[in-house]
Amino acid sequence: MCTVQRISCGFVNCYLLMDDAGAILIDTANPHCSDLILRQLGNVSVNLIVLTHGHSDHVGSAAELSQKLHAPVAMHEADTPLITAPASRKLQGHTLLGRVLAGASQSVMAKTRVSPFVLTVPVDEGFDLSAYGVRAHVVALPGHTAGSIGILTNTGDIIVGDAAFHMLRPTGARIYEDRKEMEASVEKIKCLCTGSIYVGHGNPIKVTDL
Ligand SMILES: [Zn+2]
Repeated sequence: MCTVQRISCGFVNCYLLMDDAGAILIDTANPHCSDLILRQLGNVSVNLIVLTHGHSDHVGSAAELSQKLHAPVAMHEADTPLITAPASRKLQGHTLLGRVLAGASQSVMAKTRVSPFVLTVPVDEGFDLSAYGVRAHVVALPGHTAGSIGILTNTGDIIVGDAAFHMLRPTGARIYEDRKEMEASVEKIKCLCTGSIYVGHGNPIKVTDL
């Protein structure tokens, strides 16, 4: 059975997805977080690193961890431009908190230098992760960013990166590149998930609470 373990890195969450035949790491937090993440991984052997989207607080330690874990990196190709040019796509929000977060995030990301990594495994809707030992597949969740993805397990849990937020209360992405796409992705999450929604920032969300 596929199980989800939260790996907390301050303000941002990564996740370890473990199954009978292997494990994958989802997201890598900010730059220089690899030791903190490795301590929480323990002795687990990671077959693949999956990045939910291209923001620096999720891809920041991908290069370090790929090297230390000897694991390839997977993400959606639409977000690769964000690795080298994080301010190239504007973020918006429609609430007061969203607008504040959008401005703050854009400013921090513009100053954050992410070590480049090799995208070995480009992924999109339906990509099956069982070849990496985990019974789960990729779902496209665009809106927060064009290349945002989620990972849906065979037990109905979903890890969504920033396609949903749990700040103050469960909501869709409070900041996004495209509001309509973001809202459609929230509806998709609600249709697909029968367990818990694991988010990039905050505690897990019950699907009935989103
Ligand atoms: Zn993000």
